[in-house]
This record gives sequence, C-alpha cells and structure tokens, in this order.
Amino acid sequence: MSDESYDLVIAGSGSAGLAAAIIAHSLGMRAIVVEKTDLVGGTSCYSGGVIWVPNSRQNVASGVQDSVDRAERYLDSTISNSHEREARRVYLERGGEAVAYLEEKTGPLFYVRAINSPDYYPEADGAEIQGRAMTPITYDGRNLKERFRDLRSPLPELCLFGRQMLELMDVYHLLNARRSLRSAWHTGKLLLRDVKDRLFYRQYGRGTRLTGGNALVARLYKAALDRDIPVVRNTALVGLIKKDGVVCGVEVTQNGVKREILAKRGVVLATGGFPWSKDLREQFMGDTEFGYSATSPDSTGDGIAIAMQNGGQFDRKNSEGAFWTPVSVGTRADGSTARFPHLMADRAKPRLIAVNRLGQRFFNEAENYHDFVRAMHRELGNGDQQPVHLLCDAPYLKKYAFGAIPPLASERRRALRSGYLIEGRTVEELAHKIGVDPSRLKQTITAFNQDARKGVDAEFGKGSSAYNRYLGDATHGPNPCLGPIEKAPFYAIRVYAGDIGTAMGLAADEHSRVLDENGVAIPGLYACGNDRNSIMAGSYPSGGITIGPALVFAYLAVQHASRAQEN
Ligand SMILES: Cc1cc2nc3c(=O)[nH]c(=O)nc-3n(C[C@H](O)[C@H](O)[C@H](O)COP(=O)(O)OP(=O)(O)OC[C@H]3O[C@@H](n4cnc5c(N)ncnc54)[C@H](O)[C@@H]3O)c2cc1C
Repeated sequence: MSDESYDLVIAGSGSAGLAAAIIAHSLGMRAIVVEKTDLVGGTSCYSGGVIWVPNSRQNVASGVQDSVDRAERYLDSTISNSHEREARRVYLERGGEAVAYLEEKTGPLFYVRAINSPDYYPEADGAEIQGRAMTPITYDGRNLKERFRDLRSPLPELCLFGRQMLELMDVYHLLNARRSLRSAWHTGKLLLRDVKDRLFYRQYGRGTRLTGGNALVARLYKAALDRDIPVVRNTALVGLIKKDGVVCGVEVTQNGVKREILAKRGVVLATGGFPWSKDLREQFMGDTEFGYSATSPDSTGDGIAIAMQNGGQFDRKNSEGAFWTPVSVGTRADGSTARFPHLMADRAKPRLIAVNRLGQRFFNEAENYHDFVRAMHRELGNGDQQPVHLLCDAPYLKKYAFGAIPPLASERRRALRSGYLIEGRTVEELAHKIGVDPSRLKQTITAFNQDARKGVDAEFGKGSSAYNRYLGDATHGPNPCLGPIEKAPFYAIRVYAGDIGTAMGLAADEHSRVLDENGVAIPGLYACGNDRNSIMAGSYPSGGITIGPALVFAYLAVQHASRAQEN
C-alpha cells in the first residue's frame, strides 16, 4: 500500500531534477523531488552552470547570427559519431524554447557574457566565435533565508578564500587589481562583501554571492520553494513500482525507512550519472581510471542501475564514457581530499607545458579539457607513459593560478608543504622529483622555449586557435599562450585523467523516455541530466553541453508526461 501519490516523482535535485519539477508545476502537475543527500544541487552546484543553447533569446539579442542549420553544421563537423544525431536536432530546434519557458516561470536565469567563450572548435564549419554559451546570472543566497543552508557548497578551490564564489570577470579583476583602477574597485567590492558575510551572515558559513551552477540551482530551488513543491532531502530512490509494464511509482528510503510514492504520470530519473559507481564504470568504462572525478561523490549511478533492473537499456554507443578533464589531487586544510579540475584557468597560459613520463610534450595544452584527457588516454595506451605533469616556472606562479594554487606566496608555500606542488631549483632537480629523464626534459623545454620566443608552437600549435587564445593571457604577446619556461625555481603538479560527469547513460528517445533493450519506450519512465545518455555522443563541442541538454530534455520529458494518460 502506497503512502503518497503525486503526478510526477523526480529523483535528484540537480539542475535537471529541479527544472523538471518547476516545469511540471507550471503545467498543473503535482510534483515531488526526492534527494538522497541532505544537500540540494548535486554536481550542478560545483559547476559553472553554463549552458550551450544556440538560437536562444539571449544569443539573438547579443547579436549572434545563428540558425538551427548552422548550429547543426557545427555539431556535424565536430561530432564524428552519428549516434544521437536526431536527438541533437531536436535539441537545437527546441532548446531556445525550453530555456525561454523555464525563465518565464522562474525569472531570468542566464546571460551572454560580453567576452564570451568561443565554441571549442572555432575553426570548424558552423562554429560561433562569440559562442552560444550562456552563464547563470549572479544570485544572492540570502534570498533563500534559512533554506540557503540546504544548498550544496561549491568546490572551495574555485572560490576566493575558499568560500566566496567568483565569476570569470571577477578572476580577471583580481589578477589585475594592482594594474587597473577599475579592477581595484571591483576587487574592493568583492572583499567588502566577504567581510560583510563574515560579520553579519556567519550562520551560513560561506559566501552569499552565488555565481555559476550555485546561482542556477539556488534560483531553481527558490522557485520550487515558492511553489510549495516538496524537495525532500535524505530520501533516496531505491526502486521503481511497475504495473502492467508501466512505471507508476517509486520506492524510497528515508532515514532508513522504506516507503512508496505513487506517480500518476511518470517518474523522472535525474540522479546525476555514474562517475562514482565503481561497478558501472568497470562494466562500461573498464579501461579508465576510477577515483579522479571532480563531481559530487553522491553521483553513484543509482538512477541508471535502478532503470536497468527494470528493463532499461544502457546506451554504449557514445565514443567516450565521460566528459573528461585533467584533475589534480590535494589535501585540504581540514584533511579532506580536493580533486581539482583543470578546466580553464591554467593550461592555456604562457610559461606552462604538460609532459609525460618520458619528459615529452604530447598535446596542445591549451585545448579543451575533454580532448586533453583523450590525449592522455592515447598516451596511456601508448606504452604506459603516465604520469602526466603540468610544468611551469617561477614568473608563471607569481602571475597565474596553477591548479588549486592562486598566485599568492602563502598558498604556494602551503601547497609545497602538502606535496601538491613539486619544486626544483633546476630543471634537472624537478625532473628527478617527478621521475622524468632530466636530459629529455631539458630538450623538451629548450625546444618549447625557442618556439615560445617566436610566438609559434610548431609542434602542437598552442595558442593557434581562437579558443586557445581566449583562455591565454591577452596582455601577453606575441602569442597569449606562449612564453619560455626559463626562470628558476621550476614547478610541477601531477594530473590524472578525471572527469566532470559521465557521458554514457540510459538510452532515451526525443521525449527522454527510457528505452528498453528492444528500443521501445518504457511507459512512465524518463531520464534527464547525466542519467540520460549524452546527446553529444562522447564529444565536447562547447562548454555548457551537459547542463544545456539537462534543462532542455527535462522540459521535453515533462511536456510528454503532462500529456500521458494517468495511471
Ligand atoms: C567543476 C565543474 C564545472 C562544470 N561546469 C559545467 C558547466 O559550466 N556547464 C555544463 O554544462 N556542465 C558543467 N559541468 C558538468 C555538470 O555539472 C554536470 O554534468 C551536471 O551538473 C549534471 O546535472 P544532473 O542534474 O544530471 O546531476 P546533479 O547535479 O549531480 O544532481 C543529481 C542529484 O541526484 C542526487 N541523487 C543521487 N542518487 C540519488 C538517489 N538514489 N535518490 C535521490 N537522489 C539521488 C544527488 O545527490 C544529486 O543531488 C561541470 C562539472 C564540474 C565538476
């Protein structure tokens, strides 16, 4: 006998789950969100919250001359795997509408940055230099009042003083505070906000100015609370209830007690994929390393495993199993483990290279994180050439962030003490410390430095694309990504093949209905976010290609459920 009954039961309170709940409510459905942990927001709260949605209202307003066909040409020219091509077309056709619909209900969520990230392959056919990505609008966490504490905190390594969130422009101003009055003013305001938070809002234990994925989730959570949509924490989906082949409810455990919740129009799985499921990773991505995901450790593949137990098909056709990123591992002051994703801040800057165990460069360091790790995998397959280290010199460390280390002497010293940062007074000494042949490393650096002085990386083309240069140092010339590694001491950080989420998941149709082994939709069962197979088929054409589809397919799934017959 069931305890409760709703129209839609949603498992997971990340961006996909919360968006689904708000859309369901707007369509007159009674929805409930069950969340396994005591925190709302999952990996979405760690993220930049960027969405890649061509042809959105914001993109058109910002002057991007786009069309579905042009965006499709871009995807066709950058995604060699034709799997999910139809879903990509649906995404392009309906994406703008979905985001506009959600924003109509919640108020504005996203904006286009004045200096926006180009698509990741800006030279490809159909690419957009100004980009199609949108960024969450900054949010004041205090609007959530006491419920602010429900929100998952961001990764401290991506925050000022480990607690105050930053946007890309904030980082720019922080780095230029000593050179420009405008930047000094902006930095002053950030510092003042932090002081205020510490003095007057101590109860939250964190900064209240939210950016990126935290801002997005906070806005969605507030919209859910305002509508009295139950978002029930500490309540894990553990099973599905099926009647005559139709999914009509869920089993959950709450504080160790099992109960049932009926779902008259369907169940949406949005539990965040399987980056932390050893079993599922071994089964579907067995040749990749486990334990280096920068995602929330609660993304243990529950939704996927439960769907598979109920006949759902795991889709193996994507060319990659995860959205890859190099990750370095350190220990925080409180003893917890930090897994730092090297997404954008360091690899493209001048005076930095990446080397394998032979002391050789192996790829353009300024390329996107997904392709960088694919190159690491190629290296691994090519005679076990791990470990991989990022390497730089003293002037680099004074000017730029290096992994989790901001350009501050005190942080540098702490990182050296903890072993996260490795220092050599000479290239030879550093080579010994990182287990690389010293003469090979010297050769590599000498060759790189010659190219760096000319501003052309003949070997790997660092700084050769608009995307590379966007992430470089605009004040540095002739190439914003190239500078010689020449001033001692020299430094290294070890990086691993990590990820920011899984890219394989449940096979689903254009309504995000989960398919069975015969490719037939299981009535009443939907998968969104990273529980659904990525429509990018294992490629990473731009920032925002995971949360964009998460929101859009949540919209399409709920639209479909609202039209479904009641169970
Ligand atoms: C540092 C970083 C930056 C990133 N930046 C971006 C970006 O800018 N743009 C982008 O598109 N992507 C980005 N990503 C990737 C993106 O964050 C994820 O792909 C996305 O957040 C996944 O959303 P989701 O809703 O599927 O899952 P999540 O946000 O992880 O939410 C899933 C929720 O389900 C809960 N859950 C798990 N099991 C159960 C269960 N059994 N019952 C109930 N609840 C359960 C989890 O606790 C969690 O709260 C980034 C990732 C990282 C780590």
